[in-house]
This record gives sequence, C-alpha cells and structure tokens, in this order.
Amino acid sequence: MPDPAPSRLGARDGQEQVQEVEERARRTGTLPEGQRDAGKIEVRQLEIPLGDEAAHVKPVVLVADGPRCQLTRLCTPRRIARFVRRRLRSSSRRPFSGQDDVVPDVIVVGVGVMGAAVLHRLAARGVAALGIEQFQIGHTHGSSHGRSRVIRKAYYEDPRYVPLLERAYVLWGELEASSGETLLVRTGCLHLGPRDHEGMAGVLASVGQHGLAHELLDAAEVRRRYPQFRIADGDVGVFESDGGILAPERCVVAQVAAARGLGAQIVEGERVVDVLVEGDSVVVETDRALHVAGAAVLTQGSWLGRGMPVTVERQVQLWFEARSDAFAIGRFPVFMHFAGDQIFYGLPPFGLPALKLCRHHGGPTVHPDTVGRDVTAGDEEHVRAWAREHLPEAAGARLLDAKVCLYTNTADANFLIGPVPGEERLFVAGGFSGHGFKFAPVVGEIIADLVIRGRTLHDIRLFNPGRFEG
Ligand SMILES: Cc1cc2nc3c(=O)[nH]c(=O)nc-3n(C[C@H](O)[C@H](O)[C@H](O)COP(=O)(O)OP(=O)(O)OC[C@H]3O[C@@H](n4cnc5c(N)ncnc54)[C@H](O)[C@@H]3O)c2cc1C
Repeated sequence: MPDPAPSRLGARDGQEQVQEVEERARRTGTLPEGQRDAGKIEVRQLEIPLGDEAAHVKPVVLVADGPRCQLTRLCTPRRIARFVRRRLRSSSRRPFSGQDDVVPDVIVVGVGVMGAAVLHRLAARGVAALGIEQFQIGHTHGSSHGRSRVIRKAYYEDPRYVPLLERAYVLWGELEASSGETLLVRTGCLHLGPRDHEGMAGVLASVGQHGLAHELLDAAEVRRRYPQFRIADGDVGVFESDGGILAPERCVVAQVAAARGLGAQIVEGERVVDVLVEGDSVVVETDRALHVAGAAVLTQGSWLGRGMPVTVERQVQLWFEARSDAFAIGRFPVFMHFAGDQIFYGLPPFGLPALKLCRHHGGPTVHPDTVGRDVTAGDEEHVRAWAREHLPEAAGARLLDAKVCLYTNTADANFLIGPVPGEERLFVAGGFSGHGFKFAPVVGEIIADLVIRGRTLHDIRLFNPGRFEG
C-alpha cells in the first residue's frame, strides 16, 4: 500500500481523506476480514499551515485512534511522519530561532512538576504550548508525589544553587498568591552533623557566601531546643528559619491549572514514543498522534531518553505515626542529618499525622517501568535503625504509609538544563538527582528564557547537558 499522497492529503478535508483511505483498505483487503469495521482513524485536527502566512506549524496534526494495529500497514505514525516531513521541507516557514515576531509552538514531553512549571512559564509569556503526559496529572509512578518536599536555602550541595533558590522562593510565593493555595509552609530547617563533615561544610559555605540568615548551634543547644534528637557531642546544628515544606501534589496541580488558564493545552494518558527533529521543526510521535511544533522540551523525569547521562534510583518515603505533639510543626523542624557516609532527612506531620523519614540515596538502580513498587521490611529497617540511634521516639512508631519514588541521577548530582547537545530545537530539564522539586518554577523560567530568547540571565553553567561528553 503506498503512502497517502501528500498533495491530496494536504489539500482536502481530513475526515474525507481518512474515509477514502479506509475504503481503499477495505477494497484491497488491508484490514483482515471481520476487523474491517473495527479500525478507525479519527482526524481530530488536520492543521498544517504551510503558506507564506504561516509562521509556525500548529501542534496537533492527526490522531489515529482505536485498534491501530489493524491499520498499521495503511497509515502508521511513521508514514504520517514521513508525510509531515516532506511537507515541512517544502514549506516556506521562517526560521524559529531569533525571530522576535514569531510566536513559537512548543511541546513539553512529560508533565510532572518540571513539565508543569515549563508549561506555566511558557504560557505566561504568550507561547502556545502543548504538554503530553503518559499517565494522569498527579500520578504516583514518577518523582513528584508524596505529600511533602523539603525546601531550604543553606545548600550543602553547592553554594551556586542559592541564587536559584532565592528566585524559586519568590516564584512559589507568586504562585501561592495567584492560585490561592498554600504551597509552602516555613517550619525551619535544621542541618545536623559533625562540624567537619563535608555536608556541614557545604551548608556553612552556602550561608557564608550568600549571607543567609541562620543560627549555628552547638550540640548542647541542639539538645536543649530539640530534645527529640540524640546527637554526638561533636555534632553541630545549623538552623535556617526559611527552610520548610512544599506540598508537591498541590504544586503540580497549581502550575497545571495556571498553565491551562493561560492557554496551554495538556493531554493526559498519551505516551510519547519518538521525537524527531526535522529542519526547523520537531515532530513528536505518541501512541495516539503526531504533533508538530517549533521546539520540544524533555521533562520526562526517570523516563528521559535520547542517551542523556542519567541513571534511575529507587527511593522509599516512609510515614511513622507521630504519637505526641513533640513532632508538630512549630516544635519540630524539617531536618537533614549527615550521618557518616549516609544522609537521613525528615519532615514534621503534613497531610498525615505522621513523621516522614527517608534515607537520601543508597537505593538500587532500576528502570521506571519495572521498579518494585512494594515497600519491603528491608526498606523500613534502614530508617528504623537510624531512628533507634538518633530519633528514638519515632523508632518504634507504627508505619502509617510508604511510597516508592524515583531519583533520576547524574554522575555529579547536578541537573541537566539546556539544549540537548547537537539539537538546537530540543531542550532538556532533567537529571534532578533527588533534589530538584524546590527549583521547579525557576527551572520553568530558565527553559522559557532558552526557548524564547536562546539565553537566560540565570547562571546555569553547572547544568550543561553536554558536560559529560568526550
Ligand atoms: C522520595 C523522593 C524525595 C524527594 N525529596 C525532595 C525534596 O525534599 N526536595 C526537593 O527539592 N526534591 C526532592 N526530590 C526530587 C524531586 O521530587 C524531583 O527532582 C522532581 O519531582 C522531578 O520532577 P520531574 O518533573 O523531573 O519528574 P516526574 O515527576 O517523574 O515527571 C516526569 C513526567 O514525565 C512523564 N513522562 C515520561 N516519559 C514520558 C513519555 N514518553 N510520554 C509522556 N509522558 C512521559 C512521566 O509520566 C512523569 O509524569 C525527591 C524525590 C524523591 C523520589
């Protein structure tokens, strides 16, 4: 069966075309007997503006619905892609980059917290954006679920993150104001560990270099203020009052709602299977459709492909019943504990009357589609063993809930933000290595800068996606 002739498909009404193609299939026996009426190609929108007046290609092209396998010989997405490519090659559209008068269309692949932030920031700047999510918004298969996330400024990882954190606080605040939702609750954050620990040195470097408000507490003072902890005599505490909790599910939903309110389209239950760069366009193939745009942003979390240098790590979030108000917000802060070569952290009850305790890293490398989602006794024991030594009241508490979550790690634990190497029209925001959530709105802002203007005023040298090459 030859490809549908481009000239005819482009010139005629889409539905009429499809009917003709289906009819031809029936006549020639392309569809097996008995299934001939089952297969349907539904044209939701066939919009390929390719004249002089067209500044860009609209994102939604063609949707093949129903039991597509019956029609694959006739009209596979690849054939449609070839068709679209041929059309694009012969078009006279203006180039995408550097044209201030051109409003680009952008496809955002994956709508977790990062995709939602990118869609919000693009839509806020007048860009026609389409988000494609394989599950439903707010699902629990990726990295953006689990009732609470830590936000802090005294960044042990690297002081260069601090200006981005300052901006993230502003943007979360603006989103709270515009959405009317409480997204961030300041509980204070206590960093605990030996003064000469690399982690504590990082915390102190960040507060020192950026003049962050903090208190340095010796072990006696930590014990006086927070008798819940058992720490060694040589330990110190750094308390920052700005530290707190973000409500992850609400943060995702608020950004999705804001993006939609500003005109972004977001489709759910549709999986992207390929992203092809064709000249000055990007063709995104999904299990339901082909979409064409001027650029695409890959915010796929643990499903990030295209040879990007990431590995996926299984992590577990555990909620232990808070049996007294000793752990209530106001009496107990968010904390990070540098315990030898391990880091444990915890958050006071938020969304459940339970203390959330986790080990940061130390999980196995997995694939997001096959990872074990059941929490095991071993998962629980890592955290209980730590609690027996350092937070005894929590150690014997009943486990109220547990959820597996995924870290998408780079080799240096810094993010990947910028153009995909060698692909001017493809951008990536990934590799958040277990500490990205708090940055989401500023990541959205950076990507919007890069897509629209090709540059950003934020310092993103730490995040160059090509830094591991060669
Ligand atoms: C247990 C745990 C605790 C954490 N704690 C903190 C913390 O306290 N503070 C902090 O700042 N950060 C924290 N993080 C890290 C932070 O949550 C992540 O960095 C962040 O959520 C990553 O968001 P994302 O949008 O990149 O990924 P995700 O939320 O996983 O979103 C990616 C989305 O892309 C979709 N997708 C992927 N492939 C496709 C495809 N082919 N087609 C369509 N859709 C696709 C996925 O379905 C998914 O919805 C934690 C992470 C975990 C796992």
